[in-house]
Amino acid sequence: MSSINENYLLLESSYLFAEIDNRVTKYQNENPDADIIRMGIGDVTKPLPPAIIDKFKAGVDEMGQAETFMGYGPYRGYDFLIDEIIKHDYQARGIKLDNEEVFVSEGAKPDSGNIQEIFGADNVVAVTDPVYPVYVESNIMAGRGGAMGEDGKYEGLVYLPCTEENGFVPELPQSHVDLIYLCLPNNPTGTVLNRDELSKWVNYARENKAVILFDAAYEAYIQEDDIPHSIYEIDGAKEVAIEFKSFSKNAGFTGTRCAYTVVPKELFGYDSKVNSHSLNDLWYRRLTTKFNGVSYPIQVAAAAIYSPQGQKEIKDIIDYYMENAAIIRESLTEIGLNVYGGVNSPYIWIKTPDGIDSWEFFDLLLEKANVVGTPGVGFGPSGEGYLRLTAFNTLENTRKAMDRIAKLQ
Ligand code: PLP
Repeated sequence: MSSINENYLLLESSYLFAEIDNRVTKYQNENPDADIIRMGIGDVTKPLPPAIIDKFKAGVDEMGQAETFMGYGPYRGYDFLIDEIIKHDYQARGIKLDNEEVFVSEGAKPDSGNIQEIFGADNVVAVTDPVYPVYVESNIMAGRGGAMGEDGKYEGLVYLPCTEENGFVPELPQSHVDLIYLCLPNNPTGTVLNRDELSKWVNYARENKAVILFDAAYEAYIQEDDIPHSIYEIDGAKEVAIEFKSFSKNAGFTGTRCAYTVVPKELFGYDSKVNSHSLNDLWYRRLTTKFNGVSYPIQVAAAAIYSPQGQKEIKDIIDYYMENAAIIRESLTEIGLNVYGGVNSPYIWIKTPDGIDSWEFFDLLLEKANVVGTPGVGFGPSGEGYLRLTAFNTLENTRKAMDRIAKLQ
């Protein structure tokens, strides 16, 4: 008789976006003529830009010729891509990395979900609240979270509330923690930390031999100065942080799938005898068993992001989404809602009006404005009373959605 991993039974019955889909599908079936505008899930709408698609096609053609055909590639990814990543995303910011510290992958979601495998089951995990659910759920599956308490928090995790009161900036944990997930710019609140604020976390991790799992999937949306684009801009961060980056949100790779994770060689974890071990070696060891690399044409396409034309084209796309973000912020502020984020991030975090709860506000927007958001409570108990909208829809739909919401007043 097979037995199951009972930790899975501790998970909430449905993943947040599945529940949203259920509600939207039900509404759409009951109202087939409703023109629903989706501003819920963080998926992009703009196609891959020409500089990238051209190289993508060329990579596919190479696969059809005996002379240029590529079989299994290097586990870490091809150097032609890693060289570009290091040059543009790190050297340009004064950060030195070596090629063996960068791991090309098929997504920041799988990597940020899988990374916990190289850490012991007894690590105390801290997450910001609200939070991207992957960090919580991957640790629950691995048995680090315990049961869900009545307060909507897993007993074994340390939650760092991010609320209107603290400006959505998490405070350092009151008790010792070993692993800290930080996502900046933040999904879902849109918050960023400046250099001083991020330094506090790096210092905390250094003092406590903790590791920061830094998800920078939205780095390309940073507009303001003094906001670090990489945690390694902070002195000493290479000794305490793993960084996840993704081509999904900066270049439209959500369906194409390509991302990378940086695991510096200075970073160590400890065994039960307090001997140190390289986390870079452990992550590489995991990859060689469980991963066979990202497809060659996709890595060729990803490298094209860094060409001058690729950079220009992706900047235009980000500017387009950020214009949507500004429209959402302004329109909702104008009708008296309290609105956060949307300045250095494609997410706008809205306080629900009149103290209604997140799902009530979700249903109200769906039914009265045919606009789909994401209920804040789906990201954790401190998200109750908020709703997230994304700037990833078209300009036309964004304007239409804001007009409809304004008319609800
Ligand atoms: N990290 C965060 C914080 C996200 O919000 C998302 C997607 O919504 C991802 C990672 C997923 O990235 P990828 O498409 O590279 O798996």
